Amino acid sequence: MIITKAKPFPEILQSLEREKTIFLVGCSECATVCKTGGEEEVQAMRDRLQQEGKVISGQVILDPGCNLLEAKKEFRKHREEITHADSLVVMSCGGGTQIAQEASGKVVHPTNNTLFLGTVKRFGQFQQYCSMCGNCVLDLTGGMCPMTRCAKGLLNGPCGGANDGKCEVNPDNDCAWIKIYDRLREIGTLEEFIASPVQLHDYSVNTKPTTLLLERGRPGMEDK
Ligand code: SF4
Ligand code: SF4
Repeated sequence: MIITKAKPFPEILQSLEREKTIFLVGCSECATVCKTGGEEEVQAMRDRLQQEGKVISGQVILDPGCNLLEAKKEFRKHREEITHADSLVVMSCGGGTQIAQEASGKVVHPTNNTLFLGTVKRFGQFQQYCSMCGNCVLDLTGGMCPMTRCAKGLLNGPCGGANDGKCEVNPDNDCAWIKIYDRLREIGTLEEFIASPVQLHDYSVNTKPTTLLLERGRPGMEDK
């Protein structure tokens, strides 16, 4: 899921300096789990903006915020409220905020900073395990991602700076490569890994902006 963190309220308010009437947009999925754009947060934002003298023309929670067709469908139901608004305040990830802009044609203001693709360790505790590099090497590295979990993104082994199993860049974190080595030893593929050619990451596979078109009726599996 996409992890978001709410911007400080004064920053949001400042972005709305020139606007009076606001339409609020939340997201039922990632932003709800991150508590940055679900029902509760949208209601709290509504109350807070009203206390600051803003007029809320309406609100909607998109399911999810990052789906253009869903946004267009829901915005049609709220056409008048959106037309009367000076802008939309969007409580989702950066993708959802841009979808809201595209679907409405209105000025949009994000309330969140979008941080990373996260795993949920437990309620309210998120961790980055994957940087979406476009060329997954987890098969070689014992199911742990060196691109993401090693602070230097090293693909072929440790930097040598670890101390007591902790990363030299951030001692709060375990050294990813020590964990990977231990895991490879455990599953019996360490020798194979050490003997394998140096891994180079092909950055051309995820140049931005990336798009993907699924072929209809075809399973998501490549033959070549
Ligand atoms: S190698 Fe790491 S960053 Fe790349 S796709 Fe796999 S888990 Fe994600
Ligand atoms: S100490 Fe380990 S995790 Fe930290 S940068 Fe070096 S190899 Fe990567």
